[in-house]
Amino acid sequence: MSGQVWAHVGQPFESAHYDLVVVGAGRMGAALARSLRELAPHCSLLLAEEGGLPNEEGATILAPGVWHADVPPGQSARAEETRALLGDALNVCGLLDLSTEAREGFPSVAEVWTPELAALIDPGVLPFARPDRRAGTYSAGSVTLADANAAIASGADLMLNVRAELCGTGVDGLAADGVAHVRLHRLSVTNMHEVIVAQSVMVTAGRLIVAAGAAGPSLVEAGLGLVTPHRTAYRQTPRLEVGSTPSSPVLRHAGLLLRPRDGGYTVVPPIPHPDPWGYVPTGGRLVGVPVGLRRETLDALLDRMDGLSALAGEGLVPGRSIADIPGAWIALPDGGWPLWQRLGAAHWLLLGGEHADLTGLSVARELAVGLAG
Ligand code: ADP
Repeated sequence: MSGQVWAHVGQPFESAHYDLVVVGAGRMGAALARSLRELAPHCSLLLAEEGGLPNEEGATILAPGVWHADVPPGQSARAEETRALLGDALNVCGLLDLSTEAREGFPSVAEVWTPELAALIDPGVLPFARPDRRAGTYSAGSVTLADANAAIASGADLMLNVRAELCGTGVDGLAADGVAHVRLHRLSVTNMHEVIVAQSVMVTAGRLIVAAGAAGPSLVEAGLGLVTPHRTAYRQTPRLEVGSTPSSPVLRHAGLLLRPRDGGYTVVPPIPHPDPWGYVPTGGRLVGVPVGLRRETLDALLDRMDGLSALAGEGLVPGRSIADIPGAWIALPDGGWPLWQRLGAAHWLLLGGEHADLTGLSVARELAVGLAG
């Protein structure tokens, strides 16, 4: 039987107890909820999300959605499982890893050359390319929606527009009675477009999993007094208006991806460092002219322009202010890879972050297996 959905405060909700509460319905939380309904169908489950599904400002909706096999040996089983879990959602278009120098496994770019590449790269600077024919692209937002819908269809409750606040009750900030307490602030929008708390309800959970993306570590710290080693960064993904088709391969050069999307490309820069606490995303300047791209992103593009010649052309959309360029805060889990972590008797943390495209679904599944077992 389907679970209940609360989308707005007009739908009454009183305090309740659930066996499982998942905070955050991004790709990690939604995948976890789906697997938990499958593996532990006898457990009641509430999925609580601050925004919509998926959150319009979340990291999930802006995720590059690129799967490839170039992962460290310790991550390859998770990467393969994630690929299997993606199933038909993956558009297998391949990836070309471009190189300035001859390396093992990198044939000449001439072997994979297509006329389309001429508009994007300079083969004089990047003469070698290693194809990954099993690589592909997908929409992380669609996968999240499908996972959340499957969870609801199999009995999970979902509450949207609700901000969860963790409440520590023990001396160590964790649930002394083995039960997690979470205050749910139900949000509403006034006529003046102000977001207000319209109702606050206390919910208890046998087990509570924080899958709140970049907000997860600070939620845990504020609510439970637990300091974690994870960091966050603001990543922008500008658009490159150079023609692509659904079968165009993803291009990669020195950690920067060109991801085919909607007839053009999304530029996915590498993340240089965690952002300091309190960083407010701001646009940078290019030869004195204000642009929407932050300086670190501009530097990443400038460093790679020789080889990825399209970045130096008219096709790059640098914007005029930060609002012009899609961007989101993402988690940087300690060690760089998606992970779950047990925090105490009744609390867990689940983090996707930068490499969630590659192994996120598998890590969510692994936690579900552990919780169900
Ligand atoms: P991930 O890749 O880890 O799933 P996302 O940022 O895409 O990361 O998803 C995290 C989700 O958690 C977002 O949709 C965000 O709105 C939600 N979220 C963040 N903080 C809270 C909170 N306090 N209460 C409820 N949901 C939250």
